[in-house]
Amino acid sequence: MDQVDHTQAAELFSAYWDEELAAEQAGALEEHLRACVVCRREYQSFERAVGAVGQLHRMVAPSGFVGGVRKKIRKRSRGRLFAPRKLVERVPYELFSLVMLGLILAIYVVLQLTQPGALKLP
Ligand SMILES: [Zn+2]
Repeated sequence: MDQVDHTQAAELFSAYWDEELAAEQAGALEEHLRACVVCRREYQSFERAVGAVGQLHRMVAPSGFVGGVRKKIRKRSRGRLFAPRKLVERVPYELFSLVMLGLILAIYVVLQLTQPGALKLP
């Protein structure tokens, strides 16, 4: 591709911006941009648009943003979502499983002690 016309130039903008063009294609486009005011203006506005979008991606949420969003969701869902977990709500399940394990172990031990011959577990 030694010559690029207006339509081809416009089609190459995106790949050129992403530096995905082959050297000779990039060269042909640059040559056309140097020679053609219309496409140069076009490319400049393309650059601005893409650059603006690129800056959106780099934007960082202000500190406290996530916490604020969570708080708002919690408020609007009347505490159903993102409610702060209380220790009291979580512990009983863990405690319960421990108690159950202890109980099973106790039953096993008691059975082993009371009927040593009848119960043959590996
Ligand atoms: Zn042109």
